Amino acid sequence: MQVPPFSLSRQLSDLGQELDAAVLKVLHSGQFVGGLEVTTFEESFAEFIRVPFAVSCNSGTDALILALRALEIGVGDEVITTSFSFFATAEAISAVGALPVFVDVNPDNYLIELDDIEAVITSATKAILPVHLFGCPVDMKRLRQIAEKHHLKIIEDCAQAAGTEWDGEPVGSWGDVGCFSFFPTKNLGAAGDAGAITTKDKLIAQRIRELAVHGMPRRYLHSHLGYNSRLDAIQAAILNLKLSRLNGWVEQRGIIASRYTELLEGVKGIRLPASINSKAGRHSWNQFVIQVHSNNQFSSSNQDNRDCLKSRLEDRGVYTIIYYPIPIHRQPAYMNMTFSKMKLPFTDKLCSEVLSLPIFPEISEKEQVHVADSIKEILSN
Ligand SMILES: *Cc1c(COP(=O)(O)O)cnc(C)c1O
Repeated sequence: MQVPPFSLSRQLSDLGQELDAAVLKVLHSGQFVGGLEVTTFEESFAEFIRVPFAVSCNSGTDALILALRALEIGVGDEVITTSFSFFATAEAISAVGALPVFVDVNPDNYLIELDDIEAVITSATKAILPVHLFGCPVDMKRLRQIAEKHHLKIIEDCAQAAGTEWDGEPVGSWGDVGCFSFFPTKNLGAAGDAGAITTKDKLIAQRIRELAVHGMPRRYLHSHLGYNSRLDAIQAAILNLKLSRLNGWVEQRGIIASRYTELLEGVKGIRLPASINSKAGRHSWNQFVIQVHSNNQFSSSNQDNRDCLKSRLEDRGVYTIIYYPIPIHRQPAYMNMTFSKMKLPFTDKLCSEVLSLPIFPEISEKEQVHVADSIKEILSN
């Protein structure tokens, strides 16, 4: 049996004719940039996140950059974030000229350690940028208290968290802005790059709208240096169709995560991801990430346990991914920054121990059993 880490083929065949029709309709309309599909999507997505405004753009990365720019964060400003995330989280902060300030993660939920935030706040700090990593919600009530106390903005990186909630409210509705990616592997995926920003603030929404179209409040008047970051109508049509299925897919991801937990409970040598008490929030399980303990060496020679498990799983047809092997602050792109030498013990440990098991809404129980049995087999001898 072959189990891919992620697959779209079953979802595409489920959507079938409807998907083809949605794309063809746009293709024959001749309206490719902006238009009805785009405004419909923005309205539906705003409703989904339960905020008054959603502004679409070209990618999750652009969503972060546009949000930072709209909040007037730039050169000389500091933004507190996590180093255990996709590179774009910090790259966006650097792209606007600000300095990312990293704090360690909480070892239980892999998210920004809220206890460590206040210690790194300086007079230059302008915002906190939490990441709802793998679909797991950050405690936004507590984060908001910290932000309010120090008059800081909050930019939520919700790229992996469409459908995630904290305390009954969707992520992306807690901060000043929420930034979403619709890259194909995310919970809501387009057929290419796409993104959106959510906000309750009309002025911020307006600023983002202008920045995304060359800083142009009206035709050929450019009040700011902006970007060309628009959502294509074909992508919007696909997203409109898929948004109506998103809740079902997120529910399915929850069932898959519970099944992995049942199948792998008590297995020695690994640690399962913490689940969220349903009263506290809703995890959307974009990834199911286990930790492979690096002590009690079961691998031969100098290959570490995690990499050894990964390659032995491949021998059994199970394909896993490492999100993320290198913390952001240690990436070569940041080699010359002083923070590149800083110690973030839990972040470093996770990067050497995490392994993401195959997860997508259409994965079958049989496939999950094969994944779990393979892990047990490998770890027991
Ligand atoms: C995917 C991702 C992004 C960037 O989104 P793109 O649409 O790929 O630009 C940003 N942050 C996180 C945490 C992501 O997973």
